Amino acid sequence: MPTYEYMCLGCGKKFRVRMTITEHDGHKAKCPKCGRRKLQQRVEGFFAITAKKS
Ligand SMILES: [Zn+2]
Repeated sequence: MPTYEYMCLGCGKKFRVRMTITEHDGHKAKCPKCGRRKLQQRVEGFFAITAKKS
């Protein structure tokens, strides 16, 4: 099960959620602190940004 990292746009809390891709696609994640669903997904570590040294 993949882990998704989010930052809450309501209170600024950063947190991780383990959930299935189906749950993720259904936008089931919400902030554990304030309960809002206004989240920004953090992509680091998931989509590896490959900085190629040329
Ligand atoms: Zn929040």
